[in-house]
Amino acid sequence: MPELPEVETTRRGITPHIIRQNIQRIIVRQPKLRWPIPEDLPQLLANALLLNIERRAKYLLLEFDTGFILIHLGMSGSLRIIDKNIPAEKHDHIDFVFHNNKALRLTDPRRFGSVLWLGNSPYCHALLNKLGPEPFSDTFNGNYLYQLSRGKKLVVKQFIMNQEVVTGVGNIYANESLYLSGIRPSLAAGQISRKRYQILSKHIKKILEQAIAQGGTTLRNFVGGNGKPGYFKQQLNVYGRSGLPCPNCKQLLKEIRISNRSTVFCKNCQK
Ligand SMILES: [Zn+2]
Repeated sequence: MPELPEVETTRRGITPHIIRQNIQRIIVRQPKLRWPIPEDLPQLLANALLLNIERRAKYLLLEFDTGFILIHLGMSGSLRIIDKNIPAEKHDHIDFVFHNNKALRLTDPRRFGSVLWLGNSPYCHALLNKLGPEPFSDTFNGNYLYQLSRGKKLVVKQFIMNQEVVTGVGNIYANESLYLSGIRPSLAAGQISRKRYQILSKHIKKILEQAIAQGGTTLRNFVGGNGKPGYFKQQLNVYGRSGLPCPNCKQLLKEIRISNRSTVFCKNCQK
């Protein structure tokens, strides 16, 4: 599943090729994504100029001079820039063709992705208006997590994965950042000290930054006719390593389920 770093890498990969270009045509081959692609999208974007591409959480917001569209990659979606004449394959559901003869193509085998029209006030949309701060923003820090968690009994892993608390901490990044911070994932969020939240917030930022930096090496994969953008595998300490030795103390890592998601930790290093 594309996580925040892949979405940010996608944004950086596609932007230079289509920014400040006008739409030539929109080709919708399969409108039935998670929600239907709006029928009037071709009219709404007729000759529209692409002004900017932003990312909010795992959503891409394409700002045109006529309004915003939101793209979400769902479980299996990917975007790439192609020459407009490259024939479409089975899972290529929509092309945004620009006047420079390049097209932005959405491929999504499982069709959980979305393309929505948000008009001129995108942040009022129900998908966006409750989101917590971006992990890289100054608002997101140890004090913020500490204050927000007071009195909360839910476990810290669920707390940091809640998109209303902070965006972009998926399961892998929650596992890894808690390990690096020495915090047991099953601890009640309300029982963790300010100091430990300061450590945790720094590790969350760092691990997402590292993933994005690593994704930078794949930027060229977003352009071209064949294949998919290669999503990147990070060096992971705990995620997917249940039963293997802890990189720090060599004790075997343990796996539990939290909200039915795989949670791997070291009993010795995470208290
Ligand atoms: Zn350990």
